[in-house]
Amino acid sequence: MPDQNPYRWIDRSLIALQRTHRYRSVQPIEGLSGPLVQIRDKTLINFASNDYLGLASHPALIQAAVEATRQYGTGSTGSRLLSGHRKLHRELERAISSLKRTEDALVFSSGYLANIGTIAALVGKPDLILADEYNHSSLINGARLSGATVVNYRHRDVKHLEKLLIAEKPNYRRCLVMTDSVFSMDGDLCPLPDILALASIHNAMVLIDEAHGTGVLGQRGAGCVEHFHCTGLPLIQMGTLSKALGSLGGYVAGPAPVIDFLRNRAPGWIYTTGLSPADAAAALAAIHLIQQDPEHRQRLWDNVQYLTQKLDTLFPDQEQSNRQIQRLPSESPIICLTFPSAEAVMQTGQKLQQRGLWVAAVRPPTVPTSRLRITLMATHQQAHLDDLLQGLKAVIH
Ligand code: PMP
Repeated sequence: MPDQNPYRWIDRSLIALQRTHRYRSVQPIEGLSGPLVQIRDKTLINFASNDYLGLASHPALIQAAVEATRQYGTGSTGSRLLSGHRKLHRELERAISSLKRTEDALVFSSGYLANIGTIAALVGKPDLILADEYNHSSLINGARLSGATVVNYRHRDVKHLEKLLIAEKPNYRRCLVMTDSVFSMDGDLCPLPDILALASIHNAMVLIDEAHGTGVLGQRGAGCVEHFHCTGLPLIQMGTLSKALGSLGGYVAGPAPVIDFLRNRAPGWIYTTGLSPADAAAALAAIHLIQQDPEHRQRLWDNVQYLTQKLDTLFPDQEQSNRQIQRLPSESPIICLTFPSAEAVMQTGQKLQQRGLWVAAVRPPTVPTSRLRITLMATHQQAHLDDLLQGLKAVIH
């Protein structure tokens, strides 16, 4: 008798995931999530959050979300083109375009949707996408869904990108170059000025994912584009409201015709419910804070400088040592230490947790090599960073 359970393969898959140390599960945080978090009666120092400026528990954001909920209710009740549009959404879009110094912006219900919707609207079957090999999953899946031909260039390798533009682009109708600005699992930056120069020569569109750059990089916190003095150049910027802006949702900012086109052609915006009033109001409050109070950003960068200087002595350059654990080059609050195996990184993450330190252990297939991903916040105290350094010393040496 053949096996009649069509779902049995899932049990086998789960067992295989556990055997290869790739099984994932969630950890419930109790109360507010700040530099300290409470998990199952234990207080941990939090190095696993994308809340870079510590705004997710800021009183101004909480108050804005509560007031918007009282005024507009909990849900936006429909897609933006039907019953889901509020004045608040437009105010938020204006605030984003003012921060980014773009002509317009469009708010999506998540950053993932913003990427999927935008890519599918900009390119299709007759087109070419040239993508950094380490791009975020939302760019990768957006590219797949678009039906365009996707060719990856080596990580941050503009020579490789140029070769592909010369060899491949003439065979297609349109070309879109896309890259993370801050690479989310590495912490390094894309070579934006070189990418824009090549795109201009070869008449290609550029989409940059500022999920980890907005609020963090640039003199005014506008992101990697501002950091590299590329403000005003022709490109499409997307980002999320869920990291340094402490809320939920995504956005695309750029030239007015691009935004108008997306409002008409991006299925990930047209056919989904508008962002909730609470999320929109919290993100708007975060943008006001970022513009009025650069101190959050300054404290974040002070923490980055302090930790990286100390880590440099703990984990010197690869050339100078044969260690199995290496620190990846980083120019952001994302600092990664690579490990030889998924098992090794999981064990180290657990040991750190036993010492009261919560650091994300990231494994394939999310990344090519297993790593600890440390993220810093403006609200970490120096004592938190010292505890992390001591913990790393104890569990790694
Ligand atoms: N792009 C990058 C680089 C990200 O890291 C993320 C979130 N992990 C997203 C896009 C998706 O954003 P959201 O969480 O708002 O869906």
